[in-house]
Amino acid sequence: MAHALPRNIQKTTKMSGMLKPLTFEVITECKTTKARTGKMVLVHHHVDTPVFMPVGTQGTLKGLLPQQLEDLNCQIMLSNTYHLGTRPGPEILKKAGGLHKFMNWKRALLTDSGGFQMVSLLKLAEITEEGVKFSSPYDGSECMLTPEHSIEIQNAIGADIIMQLDDVVASTTTGPRVEEAMHRTTRWLDRCLSAHQRPTEQSVFPIVQGALDSNLRSQSAQKQSQREVNGFAVGGLSGGESKDNFWKMVHLSTDILPKDKPRYLMGVGFAVDLVVCTALGIDMYDCVFPSRTARFGCALVRSGQLPLRQRIYKYDKRPIDDNCNCTTCSTYTRAYLHHLVTMETVACHSLTVHNIAFQMRLMGDIRESINNQKFPEFIREFMLNVYPDKNYPEWIVSSLRAVNVELS
Ligand SMILES: [Zn+2]
Repeated sequence: MAHALPRNIQKTTKMSGMLKPLTFEVITECKTTKARTGKMVLVHHHVDTPVFMPVGTQGTLKGLLPQQLEDLNCQIMLSNTYHLGTRPGPEILKKAGGLHKFMNWKRALLTDSGGFQMVSLLKLAEITEEGVKFSSPYDGSECMLTPEHSIEIQNAIGADIIMQLDDVVASTTTGPRVEEAMHRTTRWLDRCLSAHQRPTEQSVFPIVQGALDSNLRSQSAQKQSQREVNGFAVGGLSGGESKDNFWKMVHLSTDILPKDKPRYLMGVGFAVDLVVCTALGIDMYDCVFPSRTARFGCALVRSGQLPLRQRIYKYDKRPIDDNCNCTTCSTYTRAYLHHLVTMETVACHSLTVHNIAFQMRLMGDIRESINNQKFPEFIREFMLNVYPDKNYPEWIVSSLRAVNVELS
C-alpha cells in the first residue's frame, strides 16, 4: 500500500496552514446509529448538515427564483457544470464574476464535474485515459472533457464545493471495467487537484466509485481518503441497482471515510432514502426528484406522494399538507392545485415551492431529532407513517438493523 504521494498532494498539504475554504464540525453524534449533525462553513454561507441540496440545472431551479430558495431556508444549491459550461460558457461566467454574481445567489453553491451529464446525455461519449470524448451536440465536432478542463470550468463558475471528474460506470456494471474506472477515478482526482487554481476559495471533493463490488469500493474509499481534501462524495449509486446493494455500499463507504469530513451521497433524494442514509452516516444529498416530480403534478407528503392530477382531489378543500407552512399550503387548496395541474406552467411553480419546503423541513426534523438524541424514535415514527401496515421493505429493515435500529 505504501507509495509516494503524487506531487500535487504534497502541494496541498503544505497549504494546510492557509485559509480553508471549508471547515466542518460535528455537532452531535447519534448514540445508536452512524448519524451526526454538523456545521459546514463555506466561503459564501454556512450549512447545517445533514442537508439536502436542490438542483438548479441552468443556474436556477426550474420554477423558483434564488430569493424564493433563500426564503425556503435553502443554504446550498447545486448547479450542473455541463449545462453552464456550454451555455453561457466559462468566459461569460468569468466576466460576470462567477455564477454567484451572475444569478444573484448569495449562499453556498456546489457544482458537479459535468462528466455524469455527458455520459448520460450524450450517447456517443467515449471514455479514454485522457478524458471523456464526445461530439458536440451543437455542431457535431469532436470535443474532450478532461479532468483539467472540468476544473477550469468549475473554477470559472466559482462554487464553494466542486467535484472531481470521475470515470462513471452504471452501478450494475460488473467485470474488469469497474476496476479500471475505480483506479482511473483516483488518477483523475490527482489531475483535478493539480489543475485546481482556487484552493483557498473552493474545495474539490473526490468521488468514491467501485460499483457494487465491496472490495473495489473499499479500495476506492481508502485510496481517495489518502488525499488531503475537505470532504468526500460517494458516487455511482442510485442508478437502478437493488436497494439491498445500494445501502450496503453506502454503509461500507461511511465506515472507511474520515469521520471529521463531510460525506456527500450523490443523486439521492427520496425521503425514505434520506432517513436511512443519514442513519448510515451521510451528511449531504442532491437530487432533481423533488422539483421534477412537481412538474408532473406530484406533491410530497410524509406518507408518500399526492398525485394531484387525479380526480379524487377535484373537491378536496384541504391544503397539500396541514403541517406545512410554505406559501403554496397557506394559499391554495388541493382542489385548486388539481385544477392548475392541467395548466402546467403555473402548477409547476406552486408544487416546486411545496416540494422544496418539504425536503428542507424533513432535513430540519432529522437534524433536530439527532441533536436531541431522538433519531431512532424519529426513524420508527417516520417509517410507520410511510408504511402504516408495517409492511416494511426488507432492505429498510436490514439497513436499519445494521445501525442498531429495529422497526417494531
Ligand atoms: Zn407546503
